[in-house]
Amino acid sequence: MEFKKIDNKKFFNGLETGTIIDSTFFEEVKVEDKNVGIIRFKPFKDLDFIECGFSTRLGGVSTGVSESMNFCLDRGDSRENVLENFRIFSTAINTDINHLVISKQTHTTNVLYVDESNAGMGLVSQRNYDNIDGLITDKKGLCLVTAFADCVPVIFIDKKRHVIGSAHSGWRGTVGNITKNVIEQMGQKFGTKAEDLITFIGPSICMDCYEISEDVADEFKKAYSSKEQEYILYDKKNGHYQLNLQIANYFNMLNAGVKASNINVTDICTCCNKDLLFSHRATNGKRGVLCNFIYLK
Ligand SMILES: [Zn+2]
Repeated sequence: MEFKKIDNKKFFNGLETGTIIDSTFFEEVKVEDKNVGIIRFKPFKDLDFIECGFSTRLGGVSTGVSESMNFCLDRGDSRENVLENFRIFSTAINTDINHLVISKQTHTTNVLYVDESNAGMGLVSQRNYDNIDGLITDKKGLCLVTAFADCVPVIFIDKKRHVIGSAHSGWRGTVGNITKNVIEQMGQKFGTKAEDLITFIGPSICMDCYEISEDVADEFKKAYSSKEQEYILYDKKNGHYQLNLQIANYFNMLNAGVKASNINVTDICTCCNKDLLFSHRATNGKRGVLCNFIYLK
């Protein structure tokens, strides 16, 4: 499968990073008669204690604008289709729907610790939480699921303590710094040190695709230093800017103490690849939802 790639060398010019070029690879897993498309993150490949996969549109049962691997229950697709998609994708990554915990994303910076008592919530049982954009756990086999269609997945692995975190960081979550909240809560709950984290900033809208208005740019000007703004914002001098959400999240991680060499960034933009991935921008909101799945083995 050929994805159009982001030219991260251009955007991260002069910054120290982990893997930002060729940082992902595509895998196809056969589940019954379906070919399930999965994006894998190369820097996680050698971490044998985790399983992590990011979905594509390939391998599901939904049709129309949700074709085919859609995980969104409230944009017109049937519950039956969405459940079947979760079943197929779970099988592809060697888990099952009873082990998934689904976030309840509302563009907050709230992070929740989840354990076995939350297994299946948001899918096979009612959630006992709301307004949760980030999840952390130390429980083996419990699969954290966060949803995307241009917003930024931020994924955290403490390689020493074997604990994980996964969050949804759109522009509000980025300005509000949900990344810092995940790292702080992993610290409080598990004793995680930022320097032990390996992180990935996942498939999301690239700077070339993401035009924003002045009021959104102003929020970023308040939240970031002028040096950081040089990377994050491009002023088009017409009241509009291009925004680099991946770099903004990179700075959030760096400022929270993650080693630059452990911050890895997607080379795939959701909007540049709208036939293979769901993109809110590319479709004016007529789209399904992608998910990131991660669990401790
Ligand atoms: Zn793009």
